[in-house]
Amino acid sequence: MEVIQNYIGGELMPAKSGATLENIEPAKGKIYGTIPDSDATDVQSAVEAAEAAFPAWSKTPREERSRLMLKVAELIDQNLDRLAAAESKDNGKPLKLAKRVDIPRASANFRFFATAILHESSDFHQTDEEAINMTLRSPLGVVGCISPWNLPLYLFTWKIAPAIAAGNTVVAKPSEVTPMTAYLLSELCIEAGLPKGVLNIVHGLGPKVGQAMSEHPKIKAISFTGGTATGKQIAATAAPMFKKLSLELGGKNPNIIFADCDFDKALATTVHSSFANQGQICLCGSRIFIERAIYDKFKTAFIEKVKSLKVGPPEAEDTKVGAVVSEPHMNKVLSYIELAKEEGGTILFGGERVVLEGDFQSGYYIQPTIIEGLSYDCRTNQEEIFGPVVTLTPFDSEEEVLIMANTSQYGLSSTIWTTDLNRANRVAKQIQAGIVWVNTWLFRDLRTPFGGVKNSGVGREGGWAALDFFTEKKNVCIKL
Ligand code: NAD
Repeated sequence: MEVIQNYIGGELMPAKSGATLENIEPAKGKIYGTIPDSDATDVQSAVEAAEAAFPAWSKTPREERSRLMLKVAELIDQNLDRLAAAESKDNGKPLKLAKRVDIPRASANFRFFATAILHESSDFHQTDEEAINMTLRSPLGVVGCISPWNLPLYLFTWKIAPAIAAGNTVVAKPSEVTPMTAYLLSELCIEAGLPKGVLNIVHGLGPKVGQAMSEHPKIKAISFTGGTATGKQIAATAAPMFKKLSLELGGKNPNIIFADCDFDKALATTVHSSFANQGQICLCGSRIFIERAIYDKFKTAFIEKVKSLKVGPPEAEDTKVGAVVSEPHMNKVLSYIELAKEEGGTILFGGERVVLEGDFQSGYYIQPTIIEGLSYDCRTNQEEIFGPVVTLTPFDSEEEVLIMANTSQYGLSSTIWTTDLNRANRVAKQIQAGIVWVNTWLFRDLRTPFGGVKNSGVGREGGWAALDFFTEKKNVCIKL
């Protein structure tokens, strides 16, 4: 049994109450360890440790903060195999994906912000009269970072890295569904020599640990990634306390394929944008709109490709679709497939749970599922399923597809496939989303603003936007 511990004030420790939660391996549907079932008293200890560390950390020269963060990045790289195996076991994702994407991105996050702070500068405004304005930037103090289960270490470090780079100290909570790599990160931070209390990791349930963080008066800001309902709850708690909030929430992203697209590229990428990580990426394009002239051709070719995706154990070389993250999540996804049928949808492929053999027979596997024949405004096309399920819908004009794409409470990302760049530009401007990809998907440049509109969230992460979020600006006007 793998025992996970909290990381508070530089020490690894159980929850003060001694209570634990089970940690389940989704590929096998079996318990393989425990995590601390922490509560407000553990959060209090973490806040105290972070407060104690803040004066020294915020005054630590940026070169030294950068050096320590680069050391963490280096240790993540050195432990690539171990971290990828842990991530895959904890989450159910294919091992190859964890090795290629999740873990390299975690070290890239540390490296990116460790070097960004070396280039940071403040604004200076010269005025016509004899005065100057200089804008000072200072860290906020103790900040909170709360992350989800779909890209565990990747998203956890995406928040922690800019926070500590900017000189804050952090209380962080990974998802209780996938806590393992956050725990391994705490070991690596100790090895790297990160000063005690700069990063504190409290494991446990959202309504206990996460809620205690949102409520804590000493936590100045909350950076949250997760579901929209949770985001609302955090905002309701933290907004009246005037905390800074960055909320990266759910999505139901449109993938718009025009007849003049590069067909093979659009097809191959759409397979990926539909089913990568079992469809459990907030950026997956779950609503696929195809111009009618190529609808049948695309549908036939898409089904053919999806049929060849192997559903299997995460560590198998040829597995393309691993396990979904948990039994409740599997049941939720399957219930949406039933809903789609009730709403008149036709299952073109998939639609069933997959039962593998041997050790994996109790794992949580679902066939990649393609559905057509649904209206764009039905529940299946409006609610976030967050699994390996996509719908296909034909369209006849730009105007029509924009209405269908924008009929959503969400506005995280979208993808447009066309070789007509004027059209791409026209549609991109009218799409209600924070991120638009044209002829590509999930092409990430960490300098760009990342975030959603509507119920997909508030605020932007990435590049200077993240460093801005984790700092307070003060303008000093000097009359000369
Ligand atoms: P979730 O909202 O259930 O949980 C996210 C985190 O919030 C977890 O750590 C959880 O323990 C914690 N939490 C739960 N209740 C809380 C509370 N009352 N107060 C404070 N914290 C609380 O989300 P999830 O199921 O882990 O993740 C899936 C969701 O995340 C999907 O909706 C997906 O779209 C979204 N997501 C968004 C992005 C993005 O960048 N916009 C990225 C990845 C995932």
